[in-house]
Amino acid sequence: MTVFKRGEMHVFDGDGLPYVYLVPSAAVYKLDEASVAVLDTLAEREVTPADLAVALGSRFPLPEVREAVEELVRVRAVQARQAASAPAAPVAISATPAAPPARKRVPLTTLVVNVTSKCNLACTYCYEYGEDRITEASNKPRFMSEETARQSVDFMFAESGDQKMVHLTFFGGETLLNFKVLKSALAYAHERGAELGKKVDASLTTNATLLRPEIIDWLVENDVGVTVSMDGDKEQQDKFRVFKNGMGSYDQVVPNVRELLARQTRRPVGARVTLTKQNLDVLGIYRHLAEELGFWEVGFAPVTTSWQRDYAIEADGFNGMLDQFKLLADEYLRDTLAGKRHRFSNVRDTLEEIHKGLSKSHPCGAGMGLMGVATDGEVALCHRFAGSGAHGLGSVTEGVDHARQDAFLADHHIDHKTDCSKCWARPLCAGGCYHEAHTRYGTTKQPNLHYCEWIRSWTHKCLEVYGTLAERRPEFLQSLER
Ligand code: SF4
Ligand code: SF4
Repeated sequence: MTVFKRGEMHVFDGDGLPYVYLVPSAAVYKLDEASVAVLDTLAEREVTPADLAVALGSRFPLPEVREAVEELVRVRAVQARQAASAPAAPVAISATPAAPPARKRVPLTTLVVNVTSKCNLACTYCYEYGEDRITEASNKPRFMSEETARQSVDFMFAESGDQKMVHLTFFGGETLLNFKVLKSALAYAHERGAELGKKVDASLTTNATLLRPEIIDWLVENDVGVTVSMDGDKEQQDKFRVFKNGMGSYDQVVPNVRELLARQTRRPVGARVTLTKQNLDVLGIYRHLAEELGFWEVGFAPVTTSWQRDYAIEADGFNGMLDQFKLLADEYLRDTLAGKRHRFSNVRDTLEEIHKGLSKSHPCGAGMGLMGVATDGEVALCHRFAGSGAHGLGSVTEGVDHARQDAFLADHHIDHKTDCSKCWARPLCAGGCYHEAHTRYGTTKQPNLHYCEWIRSWTHKCLEVYGTLAERRPEFLQSLER
């Protein structure tokens, strides 16, 4: 006898209509009235087809119920199984998931090259310099040499498999302190890329203090994407983003940013904000960076730190931050429905992940399609681990230690995170950033459980935005496929 059971899902509204996020397939699915009734009936208990007919027969014609059940089984919102004690009978509908395919090696698509570990600022919260530093800067060169940068480029191409496009990102310290080397590395990357038939998409992150006109010329000419680390207006920026003598950096940064934004019109220039307990005015920061300065997009991340630090965000701070994120998400929706571009990148990034149906085996690409290189050529999980030794995956001259990489990925698979196994948000979260986990809990294996309620609430909000756009502006969602 067949028994139906409700699958794993999360219910939400899109423009007032019922939707579900299906955890096994990471798909968004709109429910009709009969499907809602079937899922409500299955909410409490498992039922047989006969039970369903009795429960719903007075409200819907039976063919409609049958059709709804078949569709729900097809999308894995409902599981159909044979009751163990029942006599053998053919199963009309099978919801058995396919066995996972053997894992293929993921080619490298993004290499983040730390061209220097030195910085001209002394931001208190910086993971490179701050109290939570995990890298061993003392036994590494502070600047990457030209030779190591070229070897990094060779490594990137060698590990990129048959990818036709590779992303080369320069990072620091303050990246522009080693402008000479990054400039020659990019020229070399384009030259080698042309020989190999691969395109190179280049970008860098900077604090913008050293953006001289000739550097801006070069960024524009070479089509280099730029992300500026910046925390808001003068008061907000100067709380933590200070020079070594304690002087704030805002006055030096802003003219450079204005010049860059005026000149770099071919590629979007983004701002990346670090939120701290003392700087949580998300709306005010957004208004200044997006609306007054004109950044193409603004993304926010809470500071990565252990909870003891005085800039660590506490529970009420996270709640206030979430409320403001939700207000900006409402604005994003309103503007998008009106055909206007909103610049809050956190919501756009999540919408894109939902739309692409991402179901992550690992929280991010670190150690898979993305790796970081330290100034001495050591290859690590990502830029934040570059130079940390214990998280090394090889070197640019010897390549990736694939045994180590495979062991890391096997150990960190979402299936091993038992705390996450019942969480509906796991296809998108998968336990969260390894660096955050290492800083908070001392191990990359631990899911970031201090964020769970936050992540689920934020994902729920983004699903509502997604559902409303699906109803009222589906062509916008299609644009996220590009
Ligand atoms: S870390 Fe928390 S929110 Fe993320 S998947 Fe695990 S349980 Fe869910
Ligand atoms: S481990 Fe964290 S910092 Fe590194 S790529 Fe992943 S999310 Fe980003």
